Amino acid sequence: MDRLIETFCALVAVDSPSYGERMMCEELRRRLAELGIEAHEDDSARTSGSECGNLCAFVPGEGEPLLLSAHMDTVSPACGKRAVVHDDGTITSAGETVLGADCLAGVSVILEVLARLKERGAPHRPIELVFDTAEEAYCIGIQSFNFSTVRSKEVYVLDLDGPVGRAAWQAPTMISFRAEFAGRSTHAAFSPELGVHALKAACLGASRVPCGRAGETTVNLGTIHGGKADNVVPDLCVLTGEVRSFSDPAARQKLAEIEAIFCRAAEQTGAKLSFSSTDLCSAYHTAPESRPVQAYSRACRAAGIEPQFVSTYGGSVNNHFAAHGIEGLVIAAGMNNCHGVHEYTSCRELARAAQIVEALVCGI
Ligand SMILES: [Zn+2]
Repeated sequence: MDRLIETFCALVAVDSPSYGERMMCEELRRRLAELGIEAHEDDSARTSGSECGNLCAFVPGEGEPLLLSAHMDTVSPACGKRAVVHDDGTITSAGETVLGADCLAGVSVILEVLARLKERGAPHRPIELVFDTAEEAYCIGIQSFNFSTVRSKEVYVLDLDGPVGRAAWQAPTMISFRAEFAGRSTHAAFSPELGVHALKAACLGASRVPCGRAGETTVNLGTIHGGKADNVVPDLCVLTGEVRSFSDPAARQKLAEIEAIFCRAAEQTGAKLSFSSTDLCSAYHTAPESRPVQAYSRACRAAGIEPQFVSTYGGSVNNHFAAHGIEGLVIAAGMNNCHGVHEYTSCRELARAAQIVEALVCGI
């Protein structure tokens, strides 16, 4: 079997759920050591809650350094994965779990390119590597990463769903929010007039929040929890949701509007509101004339593939790199139907992704 496919299948067999990446971290450290590359774990595990830190390495070369990144964790059902290589070259899981091509396709492609560079002894750019933890849990690992250690100004994150040649050059600001309505509980039949109905307050607010898409901004209310029993006026109701926008100011403006809507609903019903929000990531747009876009176009065309640049409403570690001044793209590395048991990759797509990444690091 082709080395790249062998690597991919071997990595798929390693359990690596989010926060439980220790075995994958050791496997990658061992494989990098075989290539003469010494990798080190950062100290992010102390704050991220993962079993291990992000795994980082630096491979000396010539010219401007380039950062390659892929995450170590896979979504659930993540344990007991087995790759099945079909006659037509498609690779799926055995059916009970995800395949883990997200992001092991990216990890395998990086390892393959490093192996080829070592074999050929060809000149290449210095390569920085970051394999992060708990990416699927809203990029938890990279949030504890020390960006000041990065030497590269450019990054390619090998973590995009879809055909090889595709790259995401725009992703949104993402903010989650939590609205807690506090009322007063009382018996619903003996003394309802003494109660303050937290659930009614929350629902009044929720009914006024404009969910869905408006221009380049989306809003969603995702969960609602409240109440204890049918004969009790609820004293607490909690709503959670999120805002995404390609414009960071627009996301913040929308968040303020939502808070104002909830505030008004609380006032009208006599409930008390406490509102909080968490910034998950901030928007970026990598310019068409930027070096990563230009270099990616050249690398794709050298491999006989027409590059396709897209905007995605999903966040990734690239949002965090961009926020720290490292410009880049999230590129397809042979993962399809991600986050489900029908996820697949193919020998052909993995090979094509490796060809593109090899061209990128060789500065073609
Ligand atoms: Zn991913």
